[in-house]
Amino acid sequence: MKVVIVGGSDAGVSAALRIRELQPNFEVLIITKDSYPNFSVCGLPYLHSGEIGDFRSLFHRTPQDLEAIGIKLKLDTEVLAIDRTNKVLATSSAEHIPYDTLILGTGVLPRRLAVLDDLHSPSVFYLHSPGDGEALESFIRTKQPRSALVIGAGYIGVEMAEAFATRAIKTCLIEQNNQIFPSAEAEFATRIQDALTLKGVSIHTSCGVEKASQTVDNKVRVTLTNEESLEVDLVVIAIGVQPNSKLAKATGIELSAQGAIVVDSYMRTSDHSILAAGDAVHTFHRILERFTYLPLGSTAHKQGAIAGEVASLHLTHQFKGSLGTQVLKVFENVFATTGLKRGQSRQEGYDPLFIEIEADDHKAYYPGANKIYLSILGDKITGRLLGVQMYGKVATAVQKRIDVAAVALYSRMTVAEMVDLDLSYNPPLGSPWDPLQVAAAEWIRRSQVQRESSI
Ligand SMILES: Cc1cc2nc3c(=O)[nH]c(=O)nc-3n(C[C@H](O)[C@H](O)[C@H](O)COP(=O)(O)OP(=O)(O)OC[C@H]3O[C@@H](n4cnc5c(N)ncnc54)[C@H](O)[C@@H]3O)c2cc1C
Repeated sequence: MKVVIVGGSDAGVSAALRIRELQPNFEVLIITKDSYPNFSVCGLPYLHSGEIGDFRSLFHRTPQDLEAIGIKLKLDTEVLAIDRTNKVLATSSAEHIPYDTLILGTGVLPRRLAVLDDLHSPSVFYLHSPGDGEALESFIRTKQPRSALVIGAGYIGVEMAEAFATRAIKTCLIEQNNQIFPSAEAEFATRIQDALTLKGVSIHTSCGVEKASQTVDNKVRVTLTNEESLEVDLVVIAIGVQPNSKLAKATGIELSAQGAIVVDSYMRTSDHSILAAGDAVHTFHRILERFTYLPLGSTAHKQGAIAGEVASLHLTHQFKGSLGTQVLKVFENVFATTGLKRGQSRQEGYDPLFIEIEADDHKAYYPGANKIYLSILGDKITGRLLGVQMYGKVATAVQKRIDVAAVALYSRMTVAEMVDLDLSYNPPLGSPWDPLQVAAAEWIRRSQVQRESSI
């Protein structure tokens, strides 16, 4: 059996590793446009902040590591077309490569901003591939920029604003929505914004780029839609992504309305000789109970591993769905979220109650206690937990506390059931009632008050 994988990142490499484990005799070939396979693009903001000194330390595994376990690689090679009838791929190196099973891990394409693309400026960057990161880091080291504009305040934009501020680059972050970080409830977006502002990042919401031009010394002059003008040494565009499903589309594989590759829970496309995983595919959402588009590295690894199992003829493990669990470090603070936001839950027909509390991360008498801000969203009719958000210092471990909430959501628990969970306690580390349980108890109290006042 010959399994060919298009894409050498999280999904593609996870698939390849699983095949190697389960079917040592299968031939596994990864074809990727990148020069660097199995590279952690998620780590790039910390390279650009200067916290990680060496680009190469972001390799999960080097090409040599992969080849040593029998995974063949074709780097810097684009797959141009899939001939499904003859099971052959056409590549940019003019080769025709046969496959028995094909796995597509083609990821995303960044959304582009024509007003800046049209400048063809060496000072304008997107941050998507290892090559993008290498080019940006080389620019920062050689040109020593003193000012930057980051366009788009999703997680990549926020991480890049933090990175530049850490590197003492004067940074402006703009966002077209009326709040930064759209996955956060407004209360939490304000906290993220305050953390960035405190470190000198200037932020404009409800703001886009009206006009852009380039100076003779390659600075970028931008007029914003709020009529402000600025001249910066560097621009990073992070305005979102779209599934890279060109190849699948061209060969007639079914796509979703959002253009993502349609797969079943075994990651099989509409052609069962072709599997797909990661950011290129649509994703089952466990609360919405339907497919949506939620591209994340955590999901790409899991889906890739399942595609690898299915390619190895092990149909035992199905993808169980996503909850949109996400964490974001903002300097010494962390924002964490899982599940729905209140607006989204209303659109889905729930009758949501959103409450927010603050609690100490551990017993206040033990030195170093810090506040955790925590919200719970639940359905008033059924009591079902719908979403949790948290914000606190890194030391408050909200990045792991959110995972308890994710398990509760995964298990379709009610808010009341969370109060009964057997969670750990030791005064330097927690409280007899974890902040999550304090919030759950408060949610129950307020929902009872609302119920009684409506009778
Ligand atoms: C700066 C940054 C920070 C991030 N941080 C996080 C984080 O903290 N947590 C998190 O969960 N996620 C994070 N992500 C998202 C995460 O990186 C992606 O979800 C994940 O990489 C998706 O993996 P993938 O394999 O599906 O696709 P990609 O990583 O997009 O890889 C696609 C691969 O396909 C190749 N390819 C595409 N088309 C072809 C073709 N025709 N021929 C050959 N090769 C092709 C590409 O070269 C590439 O190797 C971050 C992303 C970025 C950019």
